[in-house]
Amino acid sequence: MRDDEAVDVAIIGAGPAGLTAAYQLTRQGYKVTVIEKDPVYVGGISRTVEYDGFRFDIGGHRFFSKSREVVDLWNEILPDDFIERPRMSRIYYEGKFYSYPLRAFEALMNLGIWRSTLCMASYARWKLFPHKEVKSFEQWVVNQFGHKLYSIFFKTYTEKVWGMPCDEMSADWAAQRIKGLSLGGAVIDGLKRSLGLHKRKNDGMAVKSLLETFRYPRQGPGMMWDAARDAVVAGGNKVLMGTELHQIAQDQASGRWRMTARRDGELLAISAAHVISSAPMRELAGRIHPLPQTLPSALRLGYRDFLTVALMIRADDLFPDNWIYIHDPRVQVGRVQNFRSWSPEMVPDASLACVGLEYFCFEGDGLWSASDDDLIALATSELATLGLADPKTVVGGRVVRQEKAYPVYDDEYRDNVEAMRAELEASYPTLHLVGRNGMHRYNNQDHAMMTAMLTVRNIVAGARVYDIWAVNEDAEYHEAGDEGQDEGQQAALASERLVPRKLKAA
Ligand SMILES: Cc1cc2nc3c(=O)[nH]c(=O)nc-3n(C[C@H](O)[C@H](O)[C@H](O)COP(=O)(O)OP(=O)(O)OC[C@H]3O[C@@H](n4cnc5c(N)ncnc54)[C@H](O)[C@@H]3O)c2cc1C
Repeated sequence: MRDDEAVDVAIIGAGPAGLTAAYQLTRQGYKVTVIEKDPVYVGGISRTVEYDGFRFDIGGHRFFSKSREVVDLWNEILPDDFIERPRMSRIYYEGKFYSYPLRAFEALMNLGIWRSTLCMASYARWKLFPHKEVKSFEQWVVNQFGHKLYSIFFKTYTEKVWGMPCDEMSADWAAQRIKGLSLGGAVIDGLKRSLGLHKRKNDGMAVKSLLETFRYPRQGPGMMWDAARDAVVAGGNKVLMGTELHQIAQDQASGRWRMTARRDGELLAISAAHVISSAPMRELAGRIHPLPQTLPSALRLGYRDFLTVALMIRADDLFPDNWIYIHDPRVQVGRVQNFRSWSPEMVPDASLACVGLEYFCFEGDGLWSASDDDLIALATSELATLGLADPKTVVGGRVVRQEKAYPVYDDEYRDNVEAMRAELEASYPTLHLVGRNGMHRYNNQDHAMMTAMLTVRNIVAGARVYDIWAVNEDAEYHEAGDEGQDEGQQAALASERLVPRKLKAA
């Protein structure tokens, strides 16, 4: 084993959360080392993969946030490389395309008068007599949109994403992801759009569900995280690639952490006053020595995995969308990205396109374990089934598997997360959980970053001044008790200033 290296803060993971913390700590003069298990890429799920002159994301990554602080940090890290792109996404259903958000007239034409009338009748019925107790995803969406629209536009896709029936999924998912998007809102937005009444420039802070344009680094999200890594290294700190956490243990006398990590088959040791972890909670729990009592709770946390088959296509006039949701049970693909529409710099030549077919799966299942060649053949044939591209135009393919892409919100996840959080906070005030799988939160980058930013403040303050679990999915920080306020008050509170929450001194 190599000698211990001593730092102020050791960080597990060079994704958005880990690199945000490293970047801000470096700026403030702290000695930091980041370990990242990927041998090549920083950025975690927000990385950009490069292959043969093509670039593609793990899913497409839009940059938007209600948090001014997050937007300012993006602009600070990447001042000159954002482009603003028109958003175009559609839903594919029964061989027809529907704009997303839905446009009333187009939906009416596609569905036909009879089915549209049934949708409206079903909407009215569920508005008048909603499910009283809302526990499942299905109940939540049916209450918002009616059963008919739910079965057309939500059920198939959602079940592909999560691999479980909608009536077994927690309502939290829907409440979080489709929040604020009422049928009325979607229709009104569609009408305004048709009449050209949407004028507001997108500075990265508009409402996410209905954004018309989005900001994007010209070479993909990985560009942001490469720049953050470069700043950390330029500041004299380290980002160790291909380095996976082995164990962390706290010395009772000094309070310092001893982290061991595996790199090239060798163990290296880091001594740190604080540890920030963006590794999945389930994994971290098994690597704390001695093992936490709540390990069994952590082991019950579930994940959904994901793979992208990127196909390189010779085509001048491919579909214009950034992405298309595939609500079609005939094919396994859930969503199709067109990375050339995200940025012209994602392809080496304007006559070539890079299309990402996204498959949701579980590690070890048939899709996950299929050979790359079989997956490329499957994606090529499904693209043809959907009528999106001729297989003869496909000139290359690349498969990227992403384990633990989505933390699963099942009936018991809240209790399991809470059990581990409570034990670690009580036993280890200098161990900080941040980010998506680090906190088992189905979040966007802005939430992951905000939890890291508040953790940095706690470390600098030497006390747990901010409760990072109070950051909501819009990266807004709420003190306990804020929930009763209206949205305007909450937004003012959250995006303009952060209110310290006095907790017992850590
Ligand atoms: C399909 C898809 C589309 C998305 N689209 C958007 C979008 O449009 N906009 C948006 O803002 N967000 C989007 N997101 C969410 C975004 O990817 C995440 O919020 C963000 O990447 C979370 O950052 P993180 O640092 O918490 O975690 P991660 O990105 O998961 O990074 C964690 C890092 O830790 C490393 N790591 C884990 N365990 C260990 C270990 N034991 N030792 C060493 N290193 C370890 C991992 O390799 C990884 O690099 C999307 C996510 C998905 C799956």
